[in-house]
Amino acid sequence: MTSIPDITLNNGQTIPQFGLGVFQIEPKDTVAAVSTALEAGYRHIDTAEMYGNEAEVGEAITRSGLDRGEIFVTSKLGNDAHEPDEARQAFEGTLKALGTGYVDLFLIHWPLPARYGGDFVQTWQVLEEFYREGRARSIGVSNFQPHHLRRLHGETQIPPAVNQIEVHPYLTQDDLRAFCAEHQIAIEAWSPLGQGSVLDDPAIVSIAERAGKTPAQVVLRWHIQRGDIVFPKSVTPDRIRENIAIFDFELSAADVEDITVLNKDERTGPDPDKFDGR
Ligand code: NAD
Repeated sequence: MTSIPDITLNNGQTIPQFGLGVFQIEPKDTVAAVSTALEAGYRHIDTAEMYGNEAEVGEAITRSGLDRGEIFVTSKLGNDAHEPDEARQAFEGTLKALGTGYVDLFLIHWPLPARYGGDFVQTWQVLEEFYREGRARSIGVSNFQPHHLRRLHGETQIPPAVNQIEVHPYLTQDDLRAFCAEHQIAIEAWSPLGQGSVLDDPAIVSIAERAGKTPAQVVLRWHIQRGDIVFPKSVTPDRIRENIAIFDFELSAADVEDITVLNKDERTGPDPDKFDGR
């Protein structure tokens, strides 16, 4: 297996460009899924307080026998904890559940315009504390639009290292990706497979047949070649192994373009400008 590339973030830290996402993995299935992934060579796990499985992620990491420093762990602040003291408490809870003294990356999960007066700026300043203390090696945001990012840029000191947003062939997000590129904010593409919805697309199936790869592998490779960070979710051992086997082939520029033009601005998840976190 060819090794997973690292991306260097705007603070000099590196992040493996590929990992495992554990959204909607039941706590009872999480240790097995994360263990299978670590055995297959994954070194990056994306969880969140809201996924309810941080403790199981931590347990799988401990059981793996790997050094903590070999694994990149991301978690995210719960939507009910944007108030500064609640955010501090929630972060303690995350570290405790994961059984670690630090996370590699900590994110504000949603901007929540309709709650807390939309005041994610104060929340961000608390994440800056975690960063200065070294308990979050990098800090970032998720589901932020350019207008949210401009506020952080104008009113806070540390720029987000990443913006984790929904991206897949039916939602290519090219404007937001370009904005983030211009501001040195790396893109993490959530629901990279559109939660499976893009895998039957005839254009993707045809490229996969030609490449001798599966549609999931072709879509993940498309993300990698666009430079985004991905962490597809699966609990199925064969799929966990299939999804990481994407570093031994390349799509042509024409294939990348043929997938990009499938965009229909179609979300599988909520619109960040409307979602109130409930
Ligand atoms: P995804 O696009 O990774 O799709 C997962 C689904 O695709 C699986 O349930 C399975 O049905 C299917 N699948 C996976 N591998 C497959 C394969 N090889 N062949 C066929 N089908 C396959 O969707 P996701 O879980 O929503 O997104 C991935 C990760 O992104 C999450 O686990 C989470 O870490 C993150 N995420 C973040 C946010 C956010 O608001 N920040 C929101 C959603 C997801």
